[in-house]
Amino acid sequence: MHPTQKRRASPQFLNRKQARKFHKAARVGSGHRTVMEVAVVRRDAMIGGLGRDPAFRTFAHLIAQFLAASDNSPAGHGPLCLACDTEFSARVLPADFLITTPGAAKGGIGMVTGVCTRCAAQSDAELAAIGLRRLRQIWPDLRPVGTA
Ligand SMILES: [Zn+2]
Repeated sequence: MHPTQKRRASPQFLNRKQARKFHKAARVGSGHRTVMEVAVVRRDAMIGGLGRDPAFRTFAHLIAQFLAASDNSPAGHGPLCLACDTEFSARVLPADFLITTPGAAKGGIGMVTGVCTRCAAQSDAELAAIGLRRLRQIWPDLRPVGTA
């Protein structure tokens, strides 16, 4: 990538209104702290976990929204892989997903980023670290406090 070329913003990044809603849902205590959870969701785990873990139901809902948005994106405007410039479309589907949900209130709010087949070879920790770097572009003070 050319050094002056900024990575294209993709639909999985929130618009201003959605970011406000997400930020509000992530606030805890007196409102000065923001808590969010980052989960690397592997396709196999998704298939095995559906119907058992309520978190997976939220994930399934968010992934369905992500796939619908990526199916409807014109070429050159689809969501990009978390870790590279692979663009997702109706023909190029993510292998896995990184899902960020607000820690305080859930209710179907979350951000989904696809992970392409090649990048899915990375460990959960590596993918979560990349996700954290991306989130810091929105929330610069974000710090990891543990792993789920
Ligand atoms: Zn990739």
